[in-house]
Amino acid sequence: MSRLKPCPFCGNEINTHIGYRGLRFFTCSNCGSITSFDKDFINANPKVAEAVWNRRVEVDNE
Ligand SMILES: [Zn+2]
Repeated sequence: MSRLKPCPFCGNEINTHIGYRGLRFFTCSNCGSITSFDKDFINANPKVAEAVWNRRVEVDNE
């Protein structure tokens, strides 16, 4: 079950857990990145949080 896109920094699998003040954390056990979204409407709903995590923008680095 891999609904979550991989870590944007290293491509590893992402784990989630609920932390301080109900913040939903997306953590990577490989590179150690920890991501959270400090918005109530995101943290109150797991499906919204997953959708936000999976959202990626195109960046032109050239
Ligand atoms: Zn990573």
